Amino acid sequence: MTPIPLNDLGRRTSPFREQLAAASDAVVRSGYFVLGPAVANFEREFAGYCGVEHCIGVANGTDALEIALKSAGVSPGDRVALCANAAMYGTSAVIASGAIPCYVDIEPGRSTMDPAELERIASGPDSLRAVIVTHLYGQMADMDAVSACAARHGLSVIEDCAQAHGAIDQKGRRAGSIGDAAAFSFYPTKNLGAIGDAGAVVTRSERVANLARQYRQYGWAGKYDNRLPGGRNSRLDEIQASFLSIMLPSLDAWNQRRRHIAMRYSREILNSRIDIHPCEGSDYVAHLYVVRSRHRDALKAHLASHGIASDIHYPIPDHRQACHAGRFDDVILHVTDRDSETVLTLPCFPELTDDEVSHVIDACNLF
Ligand SMILES: *Cc1c(COP(=O)(O)O)cnc(C)c1O
Repeated sequence: MTPIPLNDLGRRTSPFREQLAAASDAVVRSGYFVLGPAVANFEREFAGYCGVEHCIGVANGTDALEIALKSAGVSPGDRVALCANAAMYGTSAVIASGAIPCYVDIEPGRSTMDPAELERIASGPDSLRAVIVTHLYGQMADMDAVSACAARHGLSVIEDCAQAHGAIDQKGRRAGSIGDAAAFSFYPTKNLGAIGDAGAVVTRSERVANLARQYRQYGWAGKYDNRLPGGRNSRLDEIQASFLSIMLPSLDAWNQRRRHIAMRYSREILNSRIDIHPCEGSDYVAHLYVVRSRHRDALKAHLASHGIASDIHYPIPDHRQACHAGRFDDVILHVTDRDSETVLTLPCFPELTDDEVSHVIDACNLF
């Protein structure tokens, strides 16, 4: 069998090649390249898809987080709660906005924020201004518990939906429609991906939306009229917006296929050395299928010997990154640390064939 990659964007885009070429040709001929009609059109479509009133296209997901934080009222020096298990995305945005990261541990076996830990930190001596809730791996966090805690302590809630496009919780709410603002990335490997960098802020609040529109373009209230400090240049271009509009109608079917593959893994991988997280609901869109094993490195090597790629999401928690130079040495996150030593991501993308999925399952069961 040919090697099984962790992702294959060639398979993703090949059915769209002609449509994408026609769309880019149309943009080139239009003479309108940045924040034009194709961006406005995608913003309308994606807001509708998420079930919110406003979508503001920006340059990437990290910018979306930063702009969402500022638009939801986070100022330099404010403390922002977030988890430490997602590759520095949230931390980068918090630091870029001049705020202070305040790390919260995750729920055992779930990888999303532990609401009890958030409550403990929010009740502490140093007050928080906001919380970033990441729907990691495509699994929605416990938004009811987080929102209740946020309401008790007056925190703004920013959802990081960069891995959870289209997820729906038990109450029928889409990821991104629950908090005060939400950030999406359309990096090519995401559940909805462009052919380059792209991102968006979505929100139900007109006030937050107006601020986000200003922050993404120098803080302009109108052309060349800078009222808002902290403005950025973070714009979405017409070609990426056109591509996203072409692919958005496929998102639900892709997510369904991802979930189908994840469910097969959960049911058919039967090995006492590999811990499986059951995943049945529509609040999981299988951006990444992550198993846990105390023999993680041996499992990774075993899969490689069967031609199967795997990866670790993520190996170094944010508070332990060298760039902080010891600033967070007193932070203790037991579950986050344990996860960083045991998690392993198996191939899970919509274009995987059933035979490839079976091959991954067989290799896991032989470990
Ligand atoms: C990818 C990702 C981001 C950042 O998106 P970029 O477009 O790469 O800046 C933020 N948060 C999470 C959870 C992500 O997976």
